[in-house]
Amino acid sequence: MSNTRPVSTPAQARLCRCGAVVLEGLAEGVPVRADAAALNADGELDALAAGRRSYVLNRRELVLRDTTRLNLPGPVVADHRCGQPVPAAHRAPPAPSATTRRPRPLDPPY
Ligand SMILES: [Zn+2]
Repeated sequence: MSNTRPVSTPAQARLCRCGAVVLEGLAEGVPVRADAAALNADGELDALAAGRRSYVLNRRELVLRDTTRLNLPGPVVADHRCGQPVPAAHRAPPAPSATTRRPRPLDPPY
């Protein structure tokens, strides 16, 4: 039996001809073009109901989401369709950045 895995490549941000930023890469050998906007649970459900596939961006690679991969960490994105931007209500909240100020031990608790 061969031990080769289908090829996955790091996702690259590109500008689609419609003007949207998309993520392109191979997900286990399948070319993917996904919206760069991360989805919340409602957004993923809406995308799946519309026949789009969803992916998790894990270690810079797009990994197709299925029932065995729901716990992979990373933002969830879905197939891009030109002219169908992700509505604001379906976007995941921005991840906390490294520059976000965190409380220091000496901050007063009031
Ligand atoms: Zn497009």
